[in-house]
Amino acid sequence: MNHKVSLDLRSPVFEDIFEKEGEVSVFKTFVAGNWVLTSNLAVVRSPIDGSIIAKVSRLDAAAIEKGVDVVYRLGRRRIRDVPGEKRLNILSRIADLLEKNAGDFEEVLTVNAGKTRKQAAGEVEASIDRLRKAALDLRKLQGEYVPGDWDRHTLESEGIVRREPYGVVLAIIPFNYPLFDTVNKFVYSTIPGNAFIVKPPSADPLPVIMFARLAIEAGFPPESLMIATLRGSEAEKLVADRRISVISLTGSSETGVKVMRSAGIKQLIMELGGGDPAIVLADADLKSAASKIATGITSYSGQRCDAIKLVLVEEPVYNEMKKLLVEELSKIKVGDPRNDSTTMGPLIDKEAVDTMVEAIEEAVSRGAKLLYGGERIGDTYITPALVEVEDKNVLRELKLYKDEVFAPVAVITSFSTLDEAIELANGRRYGLDAAIFGESMARIRKLIRFLEVGAIYINEYPRHGIGYYPFGGRKDSGIGREGIGYSIEYVTALKTIVYNYRGRGIWEYL
Ligand code: NAP
Repeated sequence: MNHKVSLDLRSPVFEDIFEKEGEVSVFKTFVAGNWVLTSNLAVVRSPIDGSIIAKVSRLDAAAIEKGVDVVYRLGRRRIRDVPGEKRLNILSRIADLLEKNAGDFEEVLTVNAGKTRKQAAGEVEASIDRLRKAALDLRKLQGEYVPGDWDRHTLESEGIVRREPYGVVLAIIPFNYPLFDTVNKFVYSTIPGNAFIVKPPSADPLPVIMFARLAIEAGFPPESLMIATLRGSEAEKLVADRRISVISLTGSSETGVKVMRSAGIKQLIMELGGGDPAIVLADADLKSAASKIATGITSYSGQRCDAIKLVLVEEPVYNEMKKLLVEELSKIKVGDPRNDSTTMGPLIDKEAVDTMVEAIEEAVSRGAKLLYGGERIGDTYITPALVEVEDKNVLRELKLYKDEVFAPVAVITSFSTLDEAIELANGRRYGLDAAIFGESMARIRKLIRFLEVGAIYINEYPRHGIGYYPFGGRKDSGIGREGIGYSIEYVTALKTIVYNYRGRGIWEYL
């Protein structure tokens, strides 16, 4: 890396959302109808080299109160009064705008989140796809008819159960998919007619602000949208606000616990920490499994909730699998994500690399063996690592097993029976996904039955993608499901309407 990283946005659509302060762009935030510049500015750095690439206007408590008030009083009704067909048209226009401005979003995801160009392009494409699949969510907005004549007390009456928007959804976004997560939560919240307040991640808030600009450009009701730029540690009051009915958080399990404590009685979607086990059976195609598991460990530098963190290999193929996996990991090219040859960019900050190094050191000090990688090559860069732990009692005590180390590192160990593999996979406090590599359907079927996770990928590494297949966790990995059509039930309330026709002579049987 020889020159300072800077952010270069080209589209005129973004011209009015930032001002230049020398080299640095100072971004406004959007509060229920107005783009506002504040004096409290948060510095945004690039993980590529630590350069300051932007500053973002933070909102103080008074500005948040004012914004929530407008969203609640006006925005809640404005979006609800837009007919479903028009809401779909708005989302479709946002998709078109995203496509047209894809270059700027790829730039910001590379420079601000440290994604390789390919990963950045993938996130933009997924976001466009998600917007264009919104009609599938709309189809889930259905109610029920309940006949009254199945109970003597309700004869000559009937009920309709309708689904309607709760009002205001607060979406809290993690740093690893700042654009896609915002888009996904925006689609399933607004398609049934909720207003949307989004709290961007402090590390990379820019894609969220840019997305809001497109939403407004596409005709989304301005009073129904707000970007709450504040630190997570200062969000307790907003989370507790009674005017917000639903909170959709994607973040760590620790944040999930804090949000649940502050939220009070609200509808919750919690997509929390994970890190998945991959189980390799003796009859698996080992070469293919090794290649997929290596991708599962290293994709976006292991900073994915669905990253593989534990590799469980059946004894007869353990040594061979170990060798193949090390071979695959050694093909990963770590470096500046702007270079085409780079397959793994930086971690989000220096602390993330520190945590990975410390977790490996702890494992090694307890007798684990570092089979590959873990070599620090700069503040935010490190080679992917594979750590072997033979003693299962040691394994269960390691940070690498107990916690989610959000970095490109996995532990590998062998198992002799399916029950042992199940016990080790379920022994972690997380329950997001699992991967199984193998051929015997009966053995795979047994694993499917007992793994305590939200999704299982057979002969594939876990990848939530755009959520065409729903995903979400059990245990400390969360509550609820995301995925096209699957989140509608959490952002809508059922309302039962009972029609009484007693004595009107409609039914003959009385
Ligand atoms: P994080 O530190 O938990 O932060 C997530 C978001 O929560 C950020 O916007 C953060 O704000 C905010 N926040 C922090 N403390 C808060 C509080 N007390 N009240 C309200 N909001 C608060 O997570 P991260 O490091 O950004 O993201 C990585 C985590 O997300 C991993 O654990 C990963 O597994 C999980 N994740 C899960 C899924 C899934 O589908 N299950 C998908 C993606 C990521 P600040 O940035 O201002 O601190």
